[in-house]
Amino acid sequence: MNNNTTISANLRLSGLEALTATPEMNFINIGERTNITGSKHFARLILNNDFEAAIEIARQQVENGAQIIDVNMDEGMLDGVEAMKTFLNMIGSEPDIARVPVMIDSSRWEIIEAGLQCIQGKGIVNSISLKEGKEAFIRHANVIKKYGAAVVVMAFDEKGQADTFERKIEVCKRSYDILTQEVSFPPYDIIFDPNILTVGTGMEEHNNYAVDFIEATRWIKNNLPHAKVSGGVSNISFSFRGNEPVREAMHSVFLYHAIKAGLDMGIVNAGMLTVYDQIEKTMLELVEDIILNRRPDATERLLSFAENVKSKGKVIEKDLSWRNQPVEQRLSYALVNGILDFIEEDTEEARQKLNKPLDVIEGPLMDGMNIVGDLFGSGKMFLPQVVKSARVMKKSVAWLQPFMELEKQLAANAGNAVSNKKGRILMATVKGDVHDIGKNIVGVVLMCNNYEIMDLGVMVPAEKILNAAVEYQVDVIGLSGLITPSLDEMVHVASEMQKRNFKIPLLIGGATTSRVHTAVKISPQYNGPVVHVLDASKSVPVVSQLLSENNSQTFVENIKKEYETLASNHAERQKEKNNVTLEAARNNKPRFDWNQYTPPTPANLGAQIIEDLPLHVLKNYIDWTPFFQTWELAGKFPAILQDEVVGTAASKLYEDAIQMLDRMILEKWVTAKAVFGFWEAHSINDSVIIPTTNTNEETKSSPVAFHFLRQQRKMSEGIPNLCLSDFIAPAQTGIKDYIGGFVVSTGFGIEKKIMEFEHNLDDYNSILLKALADRLAEAFAEFLHEKIRKTDWGYAPDENLSPEHLISEKYVGIRPAPGYPACPEHSEKRTLFNLLQTENKIGVTLTESFAMYPASSVSGFYFSHPNSKYFNVGKLGKDQVADYAARKNCPIEQAEKWLLPNLGY
Ligand code: SAH
Repeated sequence: MNNNTTISANLRLSGLEALTATPEMNFINIGERTNITGSKHFARLILNNDFEAAIEIARQQVENGAQIIDVNMDEGMLDGVEAMKTFLNMIGSEPDIARVPVMIDSSRWEIIEAGLQCIQGKGIVNSISLKEGKEAFIRHANVIKKYGAAVVVMAFDEKGQADTFERKIEVCKRSYDILTQEVSFPPYDIIFDPNILTVGTGMEEHNNYAVDFIEATRWIKNNLPHAKVSGGVSNISFSFRGNEPVREAMHSVFLYHAIKAGLDMGIVNAGMLTVYDQIEKTMLELVEDIILNRRPDATERLLSFAENVKSKGKVIEKDLSWRNQPVEQRLSYALVNGILDFIEEDTEEARQKLNKPLDVIEGPLMDGMNIVGDLFGSGKMFLPQVVKSARVMKKSVAWLQPFMELEKQLAANAGNAVSNKKGRILMATVKGDVHDIGKNIVGVVLMCNNYEIMDLGVMVPAEKILNAAVEYQVDVIGLSGLITPSLDEMVHVASEMQKRNFKIPLLIGGATTSRVHTAVKISPQYNGPVVHVLDASKSVPVVSQLLSENNSQTFVENIKKEYETLASNHAERQKEKNNVTLEAARNNKPRFDWNQYTPPTPANLGAQIIEDLPLHVLKNYIDWTPFFQTWELAGKFPAILQDEVVGTAASKLYEDAIQMLDRMILEKWVTAKAVFGFWEAHSINDSVIIPTTNTNEETKSSPVAFHFLRQQRKMSEGIPNLCLSDFIAPAQTGIKDYIGGFVVSTGFGIEKKIMEFEHNLDDYNSILLKALADRLAEAFAEFLHEKIRKTDWGYAPDENLSPEHLISEKYVGIRPAPGYPACPEHSEKRTLFNLLQTENKIGVTLTESFAMYPASSVSGFYFSHPNSKYFNVGKLGKDQVADYAARKNCPIEQAEKWLLPNLGY
């Protein structure tokens, strides 16, 4: 025997050519672009069956220096086995690609095995692990050994993914021992992947992930003879996606340190690596801080730096010619355009020029705001822009404030008080209600028109509103409310105003309010003026007329007359009976063939929680159209961005929103929590009964019921009168059916940021954040519903809908929300919250009016029946209201209050 035949213990791989990983060899890079889960472009090609073009990606990877290519076909829409075979067979006949070894990457064993049967040479299987236990691990390792491939072993075991250094080495050591001792797997064919996890997420426990990986690598190389180490590199920088320069720098820095510790190979985009030595110095330091976990504020610092780097590529030359104008014009320009950059210096310059701070306000600032008001009034400027103008105004006034205090003192001494405002308006969201976006917007718009706003916030009792109104001598009270019970609270405030002999106007606004309700229920309670205000843009003309010296009387008289007519018409209309009796309506319920139907069974009964869902998951589930509605911009997303009228304003708003959303996600401004559950249920008439919330025979709880309402409109032939209970199997069928429920919230932790913004006089960002938190809550509801359909209830495991299809509800089953048209009565939330133990489990609470707190919360029921759908309960007869009160065990008057907008008599 001569020495030539002695084979050293190296990892030997091959395509058409050999690749031997000798100790002297540098880092081996594995091309990542032929991975369907990692590359959208590649995924699209494969899904379109365009294998020719997909092959080109493999070729580019090799040309760019990939020494191995990673091939992954894990995609729900795809026959992964077939795709893997087709792709591998095709590259087999492309010598310039096939010269490198293949890494067969899949989480599904049958795809791996199919791949092993197609590759030539010696490839790598990516991956196996102890996740499903030792037995499966050994079985798979034996097959791989038989095919003669090398293997990537993920640091994963029965307990889950190894994230810390200790866990990583524990799992790798155990895997190594099993492979070498029980499977006789060649140790040089073992490649560990100790999990490269994302840093810079804003979560403290993630800060050491890169260090943990690097140290685990060092330990493996020192303690597990011949084993290699690999990893998926781009994961490290996932939190900075969208910012390629920063990501590339992070990859290079990470690799630099990991390779020094012994990393042998990694899945990277070979064409996209910066050279460590060429990274700009500041960036290098910031990136190294984050990778090596050198300081607690590393993420924060890199983020603010990253923003500059990102925009560097597309620096927009700002037109600063307006800076050449006199200071008065500059102030008004800044106001109209919402530019904060120079506001303090310009304000100061104007103050010195005009001598008195008040003259600055009443001169250039008012002039600017008048332009804003005119543009807004004539539809040439839009809410987001106005709110930004208000921010400029506030900053400028804040600068002048100290000088004014001084002046006020001087003036007061001279017996000459200063008041420059057109009027003082008190605003409040009524007791029991928590929403305030609309109210805040109205406040800002009025403020822009030189009214002084006193905002008492949310959940404000009548008593407090009236006392404040007296104490501060306000000229108008504005009430806001989102949910039905708030209507009643507004009636109460109006009657209290009457009792205390108020005379000032009362404004009514908010989602649940209407002109009719204001006319019928509120106005009669109070002799002073009562006006319903549709939206922010209407608030200015209404208030200015109410407070005008000349025509307020005519205006008020006209409104009174209008409301009286409305009220009497309403009474007339109510008399026309279009309704059928409750009994007739029940007799006309939809008939489903329950014998032909087996309801799906949920995987688990009872309540489960999601304690802290990573926010980035929700981004793709956001429905943006309602976001623009909040800002009174009409149009469907994304077309609205190109809209002829509002397109520019919408695009700017969207840009700001995305930027804030990214920070919310990265810095975790809010925590997303959910509780959901399923219970065995059957229906009896219009109620759904849950016989027991506990399947344990011995500790059975007493039954719980959800009470629903039935349409009573006279329907045309063949159209049923619906009630949500119809979608649950009736008790007498004896069929096992289920109902589900959920509460999600993305409002936890938001106060801190809101206070920061408000402290900074920044209503724009404060409103933006609340609107985004609301979007995330809806997105969470959408995400959770999908998860329920696919797994927890599991009746649609293969569903694969795009975000657009989810938004347009192209799925089976519904999640009706209490307070919405199919179940308009809010007090049912109490039952739902009790069942889910919502307060205990996630901390979302209900106010006395059944508003959910924190505000950014969504709740609802789950129905799985294929025919279940949303509908509008509509007007109810007295018989049904009495029946409902009896079922709810409450006085009819109480039920009538809850059902106010639905009363048909
Ligand atoms: N994509 C929207 C989702 C909210 S509207 C957004 O992001 O704002 C759709 C939800 O409202 C439904 O899922 C349901 O919970 C509720 N809903 C709509 N119509 C309803 C009806 N008629 N009865 C009860 N709930 C309804």
